[in-house]
Amino acid sequence: MLEGLAPDGGLYTPEAIPPLPDGLLLDATSIADIGAHILPSWFGADPSLPELKHICSDALSFPVPLVALPGAWEGVHVLELFHGPTLSFKDFGARTMARLMSRILPAEEHLTILVATSGDTGSAVADGFSGHPNIDVILLYPKGQVSEVQERQLIVSRTGVHAYAVEGSFDDCQRLVKKAFHSNEFKGRRLSSANSINIGRLIPQMLYYLEAWRVGQFTETPTICVPSGNLGNLTAGVMAHLAGMPVRGFIAAHNANDFFPRFLSNGDEDHRESIRTFSNAMDVGVPSNFERLRYLLRPDEMRELIRGDCVSDEQTLASMRRVYNDTGYIADPHTAVGLEAVRRHMNDGVPGPYIVLATAHPAKFPDIVEEAIGFFPEEPPALTALRDLPVCVTSVPPDLASIAGRA
Ligand SMILES: *Cc1c(COP(=O)(O)O)cnc(C)c1O
Repeated sequence: MLEGLAPDGGLYTPEAIPPLPDGLLLDATSIADIGAHILPSWFGADPSLPELKHICSDALSFPVPLVALPGAWEGVHVLELFHGPTLSFKDFGARTMARLMSRILPAEEHLTILVATSGDTGSAVADGFSGHPNIDVILLYPKGQVSEVQERQLIVSRTGVHAYAVEGSFDDCQRLVKKAFHSNEFKGRRLSSANSINIGRLIPQMLYYLEAWRVGQFTETPTICVPSGNLGNLTAGVMAHLAGMPVRGFIAAHNANDFFPRFLSNGDEDHRESIRTFSNAMDVGVPSNFERLRYLLRPDEMRELIRGDCVSDEQTLASMRRVYNDTGYIADPHTAVGLEAVRRHMNDGVPGPYIVLATAHPAKFPDIVEEAIGFFPEEPPALTALRDLPVCVTSVPPDLASIAGRA
C-alpha cells in the first residue's frame, strides 16, 4: 500500500484471497462492522483489529442506501455509493486507505501521494488525505476535461494538497504518475499512488458489495452491474466474489471507451486513446486493473463471470430520461450507463435481482442531467459549501519536470 506500484512497474495483486469469515452477514450490523471482520485477514496483525474497526467507522461514516426501483424496473436495486464528502464511490477507497496509510507510515517518514484523476478520484483522495501529518498529495487532472463541479472539488484549497491542471488527456496524467516512480525528478522522495493501481483502495471497496448483501437480504443471487473505467471497482467486486460472495454474474458497463467489452467479446487487446464522453470518470483507453483481473481469473472464467456492455452518450441521456420517466429516479451519467446495461440484460431475459452501483451523485453533473430530464438536480450542501472556499491550482505541460519543480 505504501509503495503503490511494484518495483518492476506491475500491480500488487493478492496471491491468495482470504475467505470471508463464517456468519459474516449475520454478525455484522454496519459496513464498518463488515470491514472490522474482513480487513484483519488482509492486513494481518498490523494494524490491529480494534484499530481497523475504528478506521472503518471513521472512514465510512456516511449512509450507503440500497434503493429498490419500482414498476418496470422492479428487481433492480441501486446501491448509492455517493453519500461521502466528495459525492462519488471513490470516497470509500480513498478515505479508508488514507487512514490505513497514515497509521502504518513510520513517524519519521514523509510520503507524497501522486494521483491522476479524470474527475472523482482526485477530490476523494485530496479530501481523504488532507490534514494527515507527513503526507502530501499531488493531483494531476486533464485541463478542461472535467466538469465544472468536479473541478471545483479538485482545486479547493486543502492542507498538503497540490493540484495541477495538465495540458493533456487523462491517459497522459496516468502515464506521468507511472513514470514518476522511476524518474530522476522525484528521486529521493518516497512516493505512492492513490489511483486504483494501489491495492489499498481496492480492498476497502469490497466492503460495499457485502453491505449490499447484508441490507438487501436477497433470496435469489443477484447480478451486479458496475459502471466501469479503470476496472478498479469491478476488480474489488471480483475479489469479494472470490472470497465467497455469491453472484449470478457481473456486468462491466462501459461508455464508448470499449477496451474491456471488446476483449471479452473477441480477445482483442488493441490499445486505443481515450474518448471523451458524458460519463467522464470512465473515459479510460486502457484500464489499468485489466492486468489484475487477468491475474485473478483465467480468460474462460472471466467470460463466464463477466459480461461487457457499451453505452453511447446518446443512449446515456436516453437512459437517464427513461429511468426518470418510469420511476422518478435521477441517475448521474455513470449510473445511467449501468442502468442501460441492466435494461438490455433484462430484455435478453436474464432474471433479477440486479444491483447497479450508483457511482456518483447526479448533482456533480448538473448540465447533463438538465439536458436529459429538463431540470437541474438538487445540490447537496457539500457542493453548495464549496462555492465560497478559496481555490489553488497550477496549469502545467504534460512533463514531470514542470510538476516536480513546483510541488
Ligand atoms: C472512477 C469512476 C468510475 C469508474 O470506476 P473504475 O474503478 O475506474 O472502473 C465510474 N463512475 C464514477 C462516478 C467514477 O468516479
